[in-house]
Amino acid sequence: MVRKKSSSGKRRSGQGRKVRVDLRRNKQTRTRQQNLTQEVLTDMESAEDAESGERLSGKGQLSRRRTIRTSEDGEQALRDVNLAGCKTGRVLSFVGLNCVVQSDEDGLKFECTLRGVVRTLARDGRNAVVTGDRVVFRPAGDVYQGVIERVEPRHGVLARQSQGKEHVLVANIDQILIVASAASPELKTNLIDRYLVNAEVHEIPAIICINKADLVDVRTLQPVVALYGRLGYRVVLTSNANGRGIQELRQLLTGRETAVGGQSGVGKSSLLNSVDSDLSLDTSDVSDWSHKGMHTTRRAHLLPLKSGGWVADTPGIRQFVLWDLSLEEIDGFYVEFRAFIPYCRFPDCSHLHEDKCGVKDAVEQGLIAQRRYHSYVRMREEEAPHWKAPPPESFA
Ligand code: GDP
Repeated sequence: MVRKKSSSGKRRSGQGRKVRVDLRRNKQTRTRQQNLTQEVLTDMESAEDAESGERLSGKGQLSRRRTIRTSEDGEQALRDVNLAGCKTGRVLSFVGLNCVVQSDEDGLKFECTLRGVVRTLARDGRNAVVTGDRVVFRPAGDVYQGVIERVEPRHGVLARQSQGKEHVLVANIDQILIVASAASPELKTNLIDRYLVNAEVHEIPAIICINKADLVDVRTLQPVVALYGRLGYRVVLTSNANGRGIQELRQLLTGRETAVGGQSGVGKSSLLNSVDSDLSLDTSDVSDWSHKGMHTTRRAHLLPLKSGGWVADTPGIRQFVLWDLSLEEIDGFYVEFRAFIPYCRFPDCSHLHEDKCGVKDAVEQGLIAQRRYHSYVRMREEEAPHWKAPPPESFA
């Protein structure tokens, strides 16, 4: 399947070049009409848009132009930076409008703002800097404060759609750990499939972890383990209660950059504490792992593992309205459907009601698991309301 790529991830080497960029006039007052206070409180994404100095209308918005030398990489223009006095680091999280960057050199954390020109160079200012980004920053002002001078090209990007725009959740990850529980809450393979589609869309390898294995007879999990194993996904059975699978999970996470997703209450925090006791994540029964940490945010944050590697919680991943995916494309991300789609009579077959459907035939013949087909049908139904409106321009 040939799909156009989103703004965020793909690399392409290129020559350096000079770019004319518009700079916003300094010390502008905000001209936005609506009351943003409430939005900032309820939605950090809106807070990004509300960055002081941004003008959405009015004349004289742009007061200066400047030529900047850049090297191109993918769709990103990289600003050439005088590295003297700069440090490299990793964006761990956001605090309000600033981000926390951990220095590669000494592990110290700096609260950084983003230089305006870096935002200007980004194709989409909203995603100019995201959790997981590798950055060049210049310590400035008080101790442990700085300014991001450059954002390095990304790979392994997870994004979702938010109000018709791409919202990058986390960048530079190697794999997604999908955590489900065998019981309490009950095992929901539909939800696993949603995460798998998300992983397939972003071409990121997925590991499925079925936790709370102590609460069931593990033989009852065998059909599910076998199903996903046949599809080529790594499946780990774990229990924080009796230690089952924890060592295996630790090995899978060590040295890797892993986005962790899964329903609330399945044991994500407990698992990470078992893998690395230094994390000391709060495992109280609140509704969302991301609400257990230091601040309430819909954004991801990165946590270092003492054995090497990082984990990132991705609170927004459960919202399936994905960036860069239309309803008609979902079938291609059920990996086992791909071989049968060419046998459909209609090229735009939805595999729901059409005659001579290669996918439905394969289900009848036992070549595609009923469980997966039903989850596909359910996903189509659940997603359909989101697609009644004409898709955003980017899907055209
Ligand atoms: P999260 O919301 O996904 O981060 O889940 P938590 O780690 O906070 O765990 C939710 C609840 O499940 C807590 O009461 C944990 O003690 C419990 N729990 C977590 N892992 C296990 C497990 O392997 N077995 C059992 N029986 N309970 C678990």
